[in-house]
Amino acid sequence: MHARDASGGIDFIIVGGGIAGLRAAIGLAPAGRVLVLTKAERAESNTGYAQGGIAAAIGDDDSPALHAADTIRAGDHLCDEAAVSVLVEHGPRYVRELIEWGTRFDRDADGRPALGREAAHSVRRVLHAGDATGREIGRVLWERVRALPSVETIDHALVTDIVVAGGRASGVGYFDLEGTRHDVPARAILLATGGAGQVFRETTNPAVATGDGVALAFDAGARVADLEFVQFHPTALNRTGAPRFLISEALRGEGALLVNDRGEAFMARYHPDADLAPRDIVARAIAREAERTGGPVSLTLKHLDPAYVTRRFPTIAAMCAQLGIDLARDPIPVAPAAHYIMGGVDTDEWGRTSVPGLFAAGEVACTGLHGANRLASNSLLEGLVFGARAAQAMLDAPRAAPMKRDRVMADGSWLMAEADGANSPTNALGHQPLAMTTVRDLMWRHAGLFRTREGLTAAVEMLDRARIAGLPSTAQEWRHRNLVTVARLLAHAALRREESRGAHFRADFPERDDRRWRVHVVETKGARDATDATDITGATDITGAKDTKDTKDTEEETR
Ligand SMILES: Cc1cc2nc3c(=O)[nH]c(=O)nc-3n(C[C@H](O)[C@H](O)[C@H](O)COP(=O)(O)OP(=O)(O)OC[C@H]3O[C@@H](n4cnc5c(N)ncnc54)[C@H](O)[C@@H]3O)c2cc1C
Repeated sequence: MHARDASGGIDFIIVGGGIAGLRAAIGLAPAGRVLVLTKAERAESNTGYAQGGIAAAIGDDDSPALHAADTIRAGDHLCDEAAVSVLVEHGPRYVRELIEWGTRFDRDADGRPALGREAAHSVRRVLHAGDATGREIGRVLWERVRALPSVETIDHALVTDIVVAGGRASGVGYFDLEGTRHDVPARAILLATGGAGQVFRETTNPAVATGDGVALAFDAGARVADLEFVQFHPTALNRTGAPRFLISEALRGEGALLVNDRGEAFMARYHPDADLAPRDIVARAIAREAERTGGPVSLTLKHLDPAYVTRRFPTIAAMCAQLGIDLARDPIPVAPAAHYIMGGVDTDEWGRTSVPGLFAAGEVACTGLHGANRLASNSLLEGLVFGARAAQAMLDAPRAAPMKRDRVMADGSWLMAEADGANSPTNALGHQPLAMTTVRDLMWRHAGLFRTREGLTAAVEMLDRARIAGLPSTAQEWRHRNLVTVARLLAHAALRREESRGAHFRADFPERDDRRWRVHVVETKGARDATDATDITGATDITGAKDTKDTKDTEEETR
């Protein structure tokens, strides 16, 4: 099963062909041979589905400082302000570059990029291409990458693990479409694997978004952080049997209203910003309103100009039409769904992880810029800016190390088992591994919108038993292992954080607790209790942790 890949002499491997991976490939191309691996059709990425747009402070009434202030407010006192600065200061330059490369954003009457407004932005700052902004950006980036002779792309290449040799990431293992395994060495590896929505039963994310990069990095010994912060988008299409197609927040930005089954607009009862309140508030309000009235919640646009609605949102209108719904006139049934993960592989502002040679950028990374909640339309910008920066940092990586694995993988030891201190005896006694659909259902019920200690403890215990014993040998076993790893890390982080902040809501700890919890929950493999908490404020109850999350971890007291 193990074949040496034909494409020897690769300098840089990029896992993922979304905005972060492609922008990095363009940056690396002049410096050596680049291999981009994607696990499905190349259009299948969160980038390809992004609708609303990309935020950048380019308007006359805007500034990087204002963009930073909105980002930090949305992040609920947990943003890494250095990372926010990088995003908002460099964002406009990289967006202008996209325009120079041929990205067709919508224009206003003066021919300047038309700027949309989305929730929690204090001004109009979202560039968009109809309601399919990600597809347009992806088109331009793929065209550019295709023209680069030093960049090779392999689709349907499922990367399952990082080869670590001498403490350094020195290659990847992947399965091709036929199920043959390949190991490819490289100087530096970038994880740009996108989101993890598929860890939950209800999600707006496409099938590729299973959080693989988090599992790969964790298994390779890298730190992962903030995984409890998952943004649940309030308005996914809620029609039985239909996919949870996203009904963009830009509709509410243009005046669409949420109504209950009696036709009453209800959001003003939950937040002063009503329909444009932060996403977590709107998502929980929808769930509560549906429970209170016993009926579904819908979005209505019937008070708006129908011609404008269908012109502004052609993709959403077409999708609704396929289901017999007229976007401009009919109520659109909506419900929350997992949408975006703020946490991920812990990186600095150059995409460097805690493992030399391993980089991460885009949704899979955690620079800390989103804090506890992402400001809408900041994630495409993040992929663009940090993809470019990771490429710059990767240029400094030394020549490839020999590809001999460190013992941890050669032993076939289960890293999650290590994190627990022992192999799970239940598996040894023959427990069946949980089906992936069961894992997703479990996560939706216990680690979704409303979380409690009881539910999360049950989830963590079940996930501990979900592992398949032994080292995977097939692609399907790896898929299972990696999904369970991500689910388990996420549930565990959510269990640890005994407060409510941003997108993380604990029904048993409904208030924010800055004194104890203005910290990042960081997980690394190998420790008995694989969680460190790193303080960003200097709070006194967490010994020795101060200021940054790069160097000063400390064991958190058992709670
Ligand atoms: C429906 C929807 C609408 C959105 N709208 C917006 C918006 O309007 N504005 C905004 O800023 N953000 C939006 N987002 C979020 C945004 O699209 C993503 O955060 C962003 O595109 C992520 O880009 P990325 O490059 O990090 O990853 P992605 O674009 O998700 O790309 C991931 C890539 O990794 C590959 N991959 C994954 N695992 C593996 C593996 N094991 N082996 C090989 N390849 C692998 C995939 O095949 C894919 O090519 C939206 C998301 C969704 C789902």
